[in-house]
Amino acid sequence: MDKIWHKKKSGVHGSGLFASQNIKKGSKVIEYVGDKVTKKEGDRRADIQIKKAKKNKNNGMVYVFELNKRYDIDGSVKNNYARHINHSCNPNCEVEIDNSEIWVWAIKKIKRNEELSYNYGYSYDEDYVDHICKCGSSKCVGYILDEDYWPKLKKAKKKKDN
Ligand SMILES: [Zn+2]
Repeated sequence: MDKIWHKKKSGVHGSGLFASQNIKKGSKVIEYVGDKVTKKEGDRRADIQIKKAKKNKNNGMVYVFELNKRYDIDGSVKNNYARHINHSCNPNCEVEIDNSEIWVWAIKKIKRNEELSYNYGYSYDEDYVDHICKCGSSKCVGYILDEDYWPKLKKAKKKKDN
């Protein structure tokens, strides 16, 4: 398969991945590759990455993805270009598991040179305020959060404003 993406400096954060051609909705864009590790090792690595991310204030990320009940994928490896994809509150991609592989799929029609994005799916905890979102979409909720927690966020904001 031809490479349908390229890495470039992003206006959102650091570098990002961009479409090299028009991409059809529902197509596979890039595989999220990494070390296949046991759950136990995955948890251990995620903990280290979380600690690092906290130290770096927004410049760190957690790259451990759940593959199945037994294994995780740690995507913090050089050849995993998918790790450069930025978060967006109005993303054009989604991460899904297919046949023991993690793939980034297009959930919308993506135009050539458009930046690729997916929702990082962070959960709502006391640290959510550290993950400020600058995706710039009209739907932006201001924080990197799974859409499931958006209603909760809105409620919390209302409380603050009153
Ligand atoms: Zn946003």
